[in-house]
Amino acid sequence: MSALDQLPSFDVGSRRMLADEVYLALQQAILEGTVPPDARINGGELARRFDVSPTPVREALARLESDGLVEKLPLRGYRTTDLLDKSQLGELFELRLLLEPGSAARAAERRTEEEADSLAQEVEEGRAAMSDDDAYRLLSRHDVRLHDLVFRAAQNETVRQAYARTHCHLHTFRLAYTGSYVDATVAEHADIAEAIIAGDAERSAAAMRTHIENSRDRLMSHLG
Ligand SMILES: [Zn+2]
Repeated sequence: MSALDQLPSFDVGSRRMLADEVYLALQQAILEGTVPPDARINGGELARRFDVSPTPVREALARLESDGLVEKLPLRGYRTTDLLDKSQLGELFELRLLLEPGSAARAAERRTEEEADSLAQEVEEGRAAMSDDDAYRLLSRHDVRLHDLVFRAAQNETVRQAYARTHCHLHTFRLAYTGSYVDATVAEHADIAEAIIAGDAERSAAAMRTHIENSRDRLMSHLG
């Protein structure tokens, strides 16, 4: 049996799926574990399953490769990557603790009015996700946007890009695909946003540090 047999069907009506939709559907299946680690992925088989031409599948696989969710096998298509182990996870959180509290402090000092509004709005998105049936999937997207907004508001594109390249949200969500931490996460995000909007650098850094340490501890205890 192929790992791709487990893929859910995607209802896009009578039209063909777009490259973007193929990418998001596959990414979701990998994050949820429907397509498990170390599964072979064959582009031709995928194209048949999604009923699309090889081009959108090739584009989707290239994007998943840059996400670190699949890797190319010489002459044999792709495989899904392994899950992060505890020591890699520890390193990722160490990096976040180096980058994010400082960025939150800078964001408090440098954010524009528009960025303050976007942060407030993003917290509302997170609150709306809490009561949704699909809470965890919505939360994972909200989490990516919230942290990216903080980096943008810090006005340091180099730091923002360095962080984005780790795709840390994808990899941590893949490790613990569960809805149990939604409320705590949204409450911590609200604290961070409030401090940045208030222009309080010290409180912003502290709220971010608390959030990252709590996220790390929640994930580590989930992994046992
Ligand atoms: Zn977060």
